[in-house]
Amino acid sequence: MSPYEESYLLIGAGCFGASTALHLKRIYPAAKVTLVDRTPFPCPTAAAHDLNKIVRAEYEDPLYLKLALEALKIWNCDPIFKPWFHRTGLVFASDAIRGDAVISNYESLIGHSPTMMLAPEDIKSRFGGIFRDADWTGVSKCTWSPQAGWADAEQALQSVIQAAVELGVKYISTTVSAVSFDKHGVCQGVQTHTGERLTADHTILCTGAYTAQLLADSAPQWKELQLDGRMVAAAACMGIFKVPKDQMPKFEEAPVIVFPESAYPGESIPAGPAGLVKCTHELSFTNKIYHKRSRQWISVPPRRKSQMTWSQDIPQGLKYEVMKVRDMIYGGWLENLEPVSYRMCWDAVTPNQDFIICEHPYSKSLYIAGGGSFHGWKFLPNIGQYVVKMLHGKLDEKEKKRWGWNRSNTGGACQMYNPVRDLKDIEMYDGSCTIAIKGTYISIL
Ligand SMILES: Cc1cc2nc3c(=O)[nH]c(=O)nc-3n(C[C@H](O)[C@H](O)[C@H](O)COP(=O)(O)OP(=O)(O)OC[C@H]3O[C@@H](n4cnc5c(N)ncnc54)[C@H](O)[C@@H]3O)c2cc1C
Repeated sequence: MSPYEESYLLIGAGCFGASTALHLKRIYPAAKVTLVDRTPFPCPTAAAHDLNKIVRAEYEDPLYLKLALEALKIWNCDPIFKPWFHRTGLVFASDAIRGDAVISNYESLIGHSPTMMLAPEDIKSRFGGIFRDADWTGVSKCTWSPQAGWADAEQALQSVIQAAVELGVKYISTTVSAVSFDKHGVCQGVQTHTGERLTADHTILCTGAYTAQLLADSAPQWKELQLDGRMVAAAACMGIFKVPKDQMPKFEEAPVIVFPESAYPGESIPAGPAGLVKCTHELSFTNKIYHKRSRQWISVPPRRKSQMTWSQDIPQGLKYEVMKVRDMIYGGWLENLEPVSYRMCWDAVTPNQDFIICEHPYSKSLYIAGGGSFHGWKFLPNIGQYVVKMLHGKLDEKEKKRWGWNRSNTGGACQMYNPVRDLKDIEMYDGSCTIAIKGTYISIL
């Protein structure tokens, strides 16, 4: 059968699943494409479902800079994405981010760099003075990207899935309990929690932070099937703050800010028309459990939905850290920035933050697309094209190597560190002491 008529079962309608569904239907209009997630779309437990996310092309790694520039072009012109993108610019206030490497990547790729280095004094006096009271300790240089910004995440995700459905993608709202295999280990599709079987020629797991558990539940004795640390569920805590009406004018020129070097490594997306500011504490954490049937420790998102979505069901210590990020970035310049809600947002993190986009080497017809590693969302417009390429063996050698099942974990997308604390440790402290571990932050953008 040609790819034009084959059937594709995408499990997970977050960033990778939604983007792949759209591109599969665009490239192979006659293909039978089914997209599955737990709830009607967009599903609120997806990392891709959020108040907003950062969109930028500044990567020290040329592969991701090129990919992000491609995405940015679509954010700026495609009617599915454009209404949700706010080009506010972005400041990296950090000596650790190698702005010079980003600039030279730009120069070799497009001949010039829109990104530039600025001194903290310049940043303090620009943008209507929004960062005048920030804690600038230890920051001697900043990288300024005028073409970056942020996007309304929930609406953009909704828009992509809606467009895919209009092209003929079938959306099914159900929870998958296991992947099914024949006696030779060839993937046949999945089984849902109601016992229904969904079958297809190709089954693609776009299940993000839930992937390790799904594979462990599906075939606990099959060692080679397991992720074995290739993608680890990890979360970071975000807080939403309501801006009083009289303070809104202060945000008129505000860009996104990333402030990774401090006791409270953090970032903030400025208030849009809804008058809400998002602050994120970047020190991520796992939630490790012992999976008895497969005899392995894996990290999984917590069972309570309120610990995956916006709520108040968050350990006090995490709330405290998010408020510290608010104070560090906006200081006393903004008055009465009160918290409205918090969220532990769960993503699948790979050791070097490179994605995984490949066929499972031990199960024919089963594929993995994920490992967004706290920076995958901006690729919502184009990552699906690469998943489609992978499905038909068309990734180039470099992409295959970088996104493969077995690969070197040196280098990588962000070259930052993985989570080194666990939710259980955090639950034991209440914010009266700090457990920030220097050098273990992960860059979330
Ligand atoms: C705190 C935080 C901040 C971030 N900020 C940014 C940012 O500013 N910019 C950026 O570019 N990236 C950012 N990211 C990264 C980005 O959100 C993720 O990399 C991206 O969303 C991952 O996409 P995904 O499709 O792999 O997973 P998800 O978006 O999580 O989607 C997975 C989907 O699979 C579904 N699913 C799982 N298991 C099952 C099952 N058994 N049955 C049915 N459905 C199932 C889930 O319900 C979910 O909808 C951030 C991530 C976090 C956690």
